[in-house]
Amino acid sequence: MEIIRLPMLFDNYTFLLCDQRSQTAVVVDPAEAQPVLAYLNTAQLNLVAIWNTHHHHDHIGGNRALLRQFPELCIYGSEADRGRIPGQQRFLAGGDRVEFAGRTAQVLFVPGHTWGHIAYYLPPIASSDPGELFCGDTLFAGGCGRLFEGTPAQMLRSLQQLRQLPANTRIWCAHEYTLKNFEFALSVAPNDPQVQQRYAQVKQARHQRQPTIPTTLAIEQQTNLFLRWDDPAIQAQLQCDDALETFTRLRSRKDRF
Ligand code: ZN
Ligand code: FE
Repeated sequence: MEIIRLPMLFDNYTFLLCDQRSQTAVVVDPAEAQPVLAYLNTAQLNLVAIWNTHHHHDHIGGNRALLRQFPELCIYGSEADRGRIPGQQRFLAGGDRVEFAGRTAQVLFVPGHTWGHIAYYLPPIASSDPGELFCGDTLFAGGCGRLFEGTPAQMLRSLQQLRQLPANTRIWCAHEYTLKNFEFALSVAPNDPQVQQRYAQVKQARHQRQPTIPTTLAIEQQTNLFLRWDDPAIQAQLQCDDALETFTRLRSRKDRF
């Protein structure tokens, strides 16, 4: 299985899981249909499913047009998003499983950005391989999603779930927000060597118009302040010693950044 990253709209990424053997593909969060159709056409692949992480338009915008082109395809989304994902046929909860190309994705319930948000985690085939996480707008490289429909406590629990995955997991975030996230991180922790180093890398990559996605959980554990709620250095910067309060202060500072 190969994972293809298609940039869409202003800063979205849509991902295609492609299985050459069966000539089929799954698309995660199609913001638009046209770039997906163009890719499928060139690669001669049949689209069998859409995996939506949440209902926002920049994640479901291509659903209807893709369904028209591939009437057999199945659209997956959160049970809690019933009624707000166009064409949805499968209603998923945390712990559910979704099959594709001989692999099984685990559904993680990760509310916070929206109340129904889910993520899809593909565990590795061999233990030395990385797993793949499609987390929509929950975790970003250097950041996390805005809390449109959830509380900081819910988002913290969701991020806790993601932080427990194997460190080599590749993380396919739905937006290229990384540079802005590290400008913010530097404003909070200007003397943090890991943040400084990552900021320099990201700045260079973006200067050369290279994507910063996928990232890995190992990188995020070290550099993403939104996964460091229990790090004494970050707590000191935010002048509190409580995990939830640290996360809450960080999120609200980012909202105003
Ligand atoms: Zn969103
Ligand atoms: Fe989004």
